[in-house]
Amino acid sequence: MHQIDVNGIIVDIVRKKIKNLHLGVYPPDGKVRVAAPLAVNDEAIRYAVIGKMGWIRQQQAKFGKQPRQSRREMLNGESHYFLGQRYRLNIVEHPGPIRVLRNKSTIELHTPSKTNAERREQALQQWYRQELKALIPSMLEKWQPLLNVQITEWGVKKMKTKWGSCNTKEGRIWLNLELIKKPIKCLEYIVIHEMVHLLEKHHNEQFKAHMDRCMPHWRLHREELNREPLGHDQWHK
Ligand SMILES: [Zn+2]
Repeated sequence: MHQIDVNGIIVDIVRKKIKNLHLGVYPPDGKVRVAAPLAVNDEAIRYAVIGKMGWIRQQQAKFGKQPRQSRREMLNGESHYFLGQRYRLNIVEHPGPIRVLRNKSTIELHTPSKTNAERREQALQQWYRQELKALIPSMLEKWQPLLNVQITEWGVKKMKTKWGSCNTKEGRIWLNLELIKKPIKCLEYIVIHEMVHLLEKHHNEQFKAHMDRCMPHWRLHREELNREPLGHDQWHK
C-alpha cells in the first residue's frame, strides 16, 4: 500500500487484480482508500479522486471530520502547501532576519525566537509571493508566441474569490497568491486562461476551443482548483 496526497486529502492506494477502480471513505475519521487495478497509475487515481472530491468531502463531513485549512499558528509540524505538495513546517530559531528554505519535505522558517505567528505568516507569504513570481516569466514567454498575445503587465495579489483576472484593454493579468500552493499545472492553467481572455472576453465556445488547443486537460485543472476552500467565482467555471 502507498499514499498520495490529493488537495490535502491523504489517499491510501491498494493495487489488486481487479477490473474496476473502487473508491471508499471509511469511518471513524473519513479515511479515503482506493483499490485500483494493477495497470492504473497514480495520476489516473489522482484524477478519479478529484472527480469524486465533492462526494468524498460529503462523506467525511458525515463522519464529523471538518475539511482542513484550519487556522495556522505557524508552529513546528504544521502542514503547508507548495506547488501541490504538502510540507511540514520546521521552525529553526536563529538570530538575524527571517529566512525561508524549502527542503524535500519541510519548509524551514529560520527566525529569531521572539517572532509571533503573524510575523512568521508574513514571512512565509512573502516567500510564497517571491516563488510564484519566479515561475511566471517562463510561462508567459512560452505562451505569448503560441497564443500570439502580448501581456503588458502582470502581478500577484491576494484575491478572495478569483484565481486570476485579466484587464483585456490594458493587457494586464493578476494571479492569486494562493496558486503557489497548487500543482504547477493548475497555475499554468490560470495563466493560459487569463491570456486567452486577450483573444476572447467571454467563456464561450471559442474560448474553450483555445483552451482545448493549448491545454487538453484544462477542465481537470479547473476542477482541482474549484474543489478548494477558496471556492470559485463565476468567471472561472
Ligand atoms: Zn475567465
